Amino acid sequence: MSEEDKLREELCRIGRRLYERHLTSGAGGSISARTSKNEVLIKPSGFSLADMQPENIIKLSLKGEVLSGRYPPSTDAPWHLMIYEMRTDINAIVHAHPPICGGFACAGVSLDIPTFTEVIIQIGRIPFMEYATPTTMDYAIKVAEHLKNANALLMKNHGIITLGSNLEQAFQRAELLEDFAKMILIAKILGGPILLPQEEINKLRTLESEKWRIKVVEELYR
Ligand SMILES: [Zn+2]
Repeated sequence: MSEEDKLREELCRIGRRLYERHLTSGAGGSISARTSKNEVLIKPSGFSLADMQPENIIKLSLKGEVLSGRYPPSTDAPWHLMIYEMRTDINAIVHAHPPICGGFACAGVSLDIPTFTEVIIQIGRIPFMEYATPTTMDYAIKVAEHLKNANALLMKNHGIITLGSNLEQAFQRAELLEDFAKMILIAKILGGPILLPQEEINKLRTLESEKWRIKVVEELYR
């Protein structure tokens, strides 16, 4: 199987996992991956992530030309391409509408809270983006700007975006972000959350054992 065919299969597998984990519903959300030829495979517009098939996936150049595919690409394609252009370390993007993160997004409450070790290690900062109308160029530019130095984003009145060096890592970050939103909700009910001091955050980001865990995901799902 060619590298591109494997990546098409992987996009469908991750699409199903996003749907099964209730991280997105209906035709919402979008996913994409970069090939070693610097081309981008992306979900077609209007398709549900639950039952997307490898042959449905659209192949684009970084400039946005359709290289193959029978359907129009996701309307999110412009900012997916901007991120690949800007972040050479990123090869996969997940955009989803998970309900608990969505609650924070609709209430205008940021999740950029340094309180849970796993999120600090695996994701890092989670910027909060003010509302912009999806599918517009203004929205695409804002998304790209917020993800210059971050691997996750919470967008007001909308949803989340996570980035990864591969699809598995981008997916695991989305999964972790939704669990984190649940934790913050519970912590708020219980009078928290209690923030970790900056010194401890710095220590977590440089833990050797955790660097190994991140490397494993990067290698296993290359
Ligand atoms: Zn969306």
